[in-house]
Amino acid sequence: MSVRKILVTSALPYANGAIHLGHLVEYVQTDIWVRFQKMRGHECWYVCADDTHGTPIMLRAEQEGVTPETLIARMHGEHLRDFAGFHIAFDNYYTTHSPETRFYSEDIFAKLTQAGLIEAREIEQYYDPAKNMFLPDRYIKGECPRCSAKDQYGDSCEACGAAYAPTELVNPYSAVSGAQPVLRASTHFFFKLSDPRCQAFLRQWTRAGHLQEEAANKLAEWLGEEGENKLTDWDISRDAPYFGFEIPGHPGKYFYVWLDAPIGYMGSFKNLCAQKGLDFETWWRADSQTELYHFIGKDILYFHALFWPAMLRFAGYRTPTRVFAHGFLTVDGAKMSKSRGTFITAASYLAQGLDPEWLRYYFAAKLNGTLEDIDLNLDDFVARVNSDLVGKYLNIAARAAGFIAKRFAGRLLDEEMTARLRTTLPALFGAEIEIATHYENRDFARAIRRIMALADDVNQYADREQPWKLAKEAGKERELHIVCSLLINAFRLLTIYLKPVLPHLARRAEAFLNVAPLTWKDAAHALPPAHLIQPYEHLMRRIERKEIDALLAANRETLQAPPAPTRHGEHRQHAENKRAETAAREAPTSTIGLEEFAKVDLRIARIVEASPVEGADKLLRLVLDLGPLGRRQVFAGIKGAYDPASLVGRLTVCVANLAPRKMRFGVSEGMVLAASDPTGETPGLFLLAADAGAQPGMIVK
Ligand SMILES: [Zn+2]
Repeated sequence: MSVRKILVTSALPYANGAIHLGHLVEYVQTDIWVRFQKMRGHECWYVCADDTHGTPIMLRAEQEGVTPETLIARMHGEHLRDFAGFHIAFDNYYTTHSPETRFYSEDIFAKLTQAGLIEAREIEQYYDPAKNMFLPDRYIKGECPRCSAKDQYGDSCEACGAAYAPTELVNPYSAVSGAQPVLRASTHFFFKLSDPRCQAFLRQWTRAGHLQEEAANKLAEWLGEEGENKLTDWDISRDAPYFGFEIPGHPGKYFYVWLDAPIGYMGSFKNLCAQKGLDFETWWRADSQTELYHFIGKDILYFHALFWPAMLRFAGYRTPTRVFAHGFLTVDGAKMSKSRGTFITAASYLAQGLDPEWLRYYFAAKLNGTLEDIDLNLDDFVARVNSDLVGKYLNIAARAAGFIAKRFAGRLLDEEMTARLRTTLPALFGAEIEIATHYENRDFARAIRRIMALADDVNQYADREQPWKLAKEAGKERELHIVCSLLINAFRLLTIYLKPVLPHLARRAEAFLNVAPLTWKDAAHALPPAHLIQPYEHLMRRIERKEIDALLAANRETLQAPPAPTRHGEHRQHAENKRAETAAREAPTSTIGLEEFAKVDLRIARIVEASPVEGADKLLRLVLDLGPLGRRQVFAGIKGAYDPASLVGRLTVCVANLAPRKMRFGVSEGMVLAASDPTGETPGLFLLAADAGAQPGMIVK
């Protein structure tokens, strides 16, 4: 087998929110595939990065009173910690806010300009006169032009599903300042996808085996018939203020975040090349013989299967070998929901003491390489992990290890076992080729089914031979040794097959087996004669349903915070795409019922301490006395309005059941309420107060 050179990416998570189980589907899928390729002996590199640019990052940093650089550095740390917790083994986890990504963004822009595929055009766009910025569609709200539903986004209506331009909204307002936006002209740069060269190239490329069939069909719809020219030019610039890369020679114009996000794959790899002494050109030049794979969610197919290959092609770089799209995660058959607690963050899963490999295994058992959504059925999750991993796979080692330790001083049979394994458990030995094919095809579900069927065979063999009986009979010593040695060897083979999915468990199994890290090649032979194994210790425990319930409780939000806008929200795109996104990234609700309001636990609080926070120019650190609820630390963005000393002793109103929020300076355990004018016409912040007589801890309703 010749050694392949393989470069793999997962989509770049946006540096504006926590990693949740929905994200993890993709990273687990990619990581399993990469680990498999590495076990096979191929040269395989896995790169990723935080996607750091755009309006949402800029506004959030401003809200927190920090620079965007500070915000993205913090998010990078959190993301990396979460990924490491789930054993996602990137070779490089970088950032798009890097000199490498800037270099290739400028380079590609210059080459596309040279190729005559960039055009400057004046467009009219909504502008927020209070905030002095152009508004992305998602930051303009108003009444739906079709059904008159209030508070709808500038690109589509959540009530009736209509897609429209922000200029069609009735009574539009800026979601940033509340001001009425005005139309203003500005010059933008467009990538001319409507150019016949782009159309011809994409028509050919999307049908040349780079995409799953379902994805190729979707693309064919977007491309339309020959000569139909359905693709419109893509607006790739944004006006200042914007957090991103300024376009050389065009002050005040920035590359749109979706231009530099995929270029971040190149930036991350370039950075890895410097670390490892790799040659970037070998991997990215137009005639590169290496393989390039992008794992993505089906919602960003448009960017990865249209814009990205066209950008690469006409800038003189190689195009992807394959783009692998996957479906979304549902939990118990429904969209992940904050109120049901199924919007589960990676950090909360780990904090609850749940084993990350349970989830890796369950996702693997569901992933079949198509665009279908995958469902995390929580009862099935508990049942399957307990039955497959503990009941079947680990049970094999548990059944044999004790006898090997006590009766044979930890040594396996002193004969070569390969032939014996082949005749006793023929399916187990020959399965590596089939299982490898399933892994290669990303049909992990089939690989797992096959592996568990083999584990069943092995357990049936143990049931037939009954080592526990042999152990009690005189003169059966050698038979017992044979059976147990076979079981240990069978366990080793299953460990090889499961290793891409369960890397951490495999490492501990290797320690028990007393072997070097297992590779795929090791499946061709048994352990050597008289091999010494280590005492068996429990390698994995069972899950209990109550642990899952605790996880849901930890993620259930009593008050739904407005969602963090994503970079996707900034872009006007195919209507269907938009709907998928809208569904995936929920919007704040405009009205609530009484029962929802009752979920907010408002309490009277006495401010007992107030002090400035070093490094944050808007925040005060408050210590609140909530009477029977004790004392809480809260960070409040009221420094501009109040002298800390004047606050001590005051009564105010506090949201007592807001989920604690970890900030750079410490944990904020609630929120104090203050009034302000969203238009900014009346400046200032006004802390709510209670009439005399109110006591700390009293309920406000
Ligand atoms: Zn509507």
